[in-house]
Amino acid sequence: LEQQYRQAQKMEPVGRLAGGIAHDLNNLLAPILGYSELLATDLTENDPRRAAVEQILYAGQRARDLIRQLLAFSRKQTLTFRSININELLSQFHRLLRRTIREDIQINLHLADPLPNIQGDTGQLEQVILNLAVNAQDAMVGSGELSFQTALAVPDDAERAEMDLGQAGPHVLLTITDTGIGMDGDTCAQVFEPFFTTKGQHSGTGLGLSTVYGIIKQHKGAIGVTSKPGRGTTFTIHLPATDRNLNQVEEEREASHPQVQ
Ligand code: ADP
Repeated sequence: LEQQYRQAQKMEPVGRLAGGIAHDLNNLLAPILGYSELLATDLTENDPRRAAVEQILYAGQRARDLIRQLLAFSRKQTLTFRSININELLSQFHRLLRRTIREDIQINLHLADPLPNIQGDTGQLEQVILNLAVNAQDAMVGSGELSFQTALAVPDDAERAEMDLGQAGPHVLLTITDTGIGMDGDTCAQVFEPFFTTKGQHSGTGLGLSTVYGIIKQHKGAIGVTSKPGRGTTFTIHLPATDRNLNQVEEEREASHPQVQ
């Protein structure tokens, strides 16, 4: 099984630039939206100019939605870090996810227990899970499976270099797999870039995964993607483990997989 691993690109300066432009565009849009709304209400139902004004309104509203997302993406959020167990976060978030994702998609959780904690911002990590889940849903036509798996991982130096992972030592590994349409290598290489989308300008903004990338970076983690057209996609997230309950995790691992002397 040939798989592609692509490392996300650095894009902080792009994000800042995009934020600045978004802010200016937002100001320019206000009169366009305001006056076209005014015109639309002034024109009678059968006035031929009404359709044209409604087109302006529609495009303006769509631009406004896009700019909102852009601002949310580029705004440097101040994160509130606390000790989080990813298993607990997934178990709790699962309920909301179940209500959000189409019913014909099965959602599986495979949680390694025990799992060390990480330092993280709950809301932002939920955003990560939601964005990945919605993308997985978009990639699955009809029924499919969306799986979340947690594990303890200790990347070696080569793996850390490949993932651009700053910290040595144990990490929590979160894998998100779908049985969707997958991607070719070319697409995989671009998914984390802001504005990259294959969904067409009316349904995709191309900001979902760049937001995910930014959040994972702020957590000093790494995200990668492997995919195969027609088979599905796997996103791999590494987050540095905190040593809070690491000793306990390692003791239990030793007990269940005793080393051969
Ligand atoms: P958007 O969803 O608005 O297109 P994203 O940044 O979230 O923006 O995703 C960028 C692109 O990456 C998508 O348009 C799609 O081509 C691809 N993609 C993301 N997740 C998946 C997935 N799970 N399966 C297949 N393709 C995906």
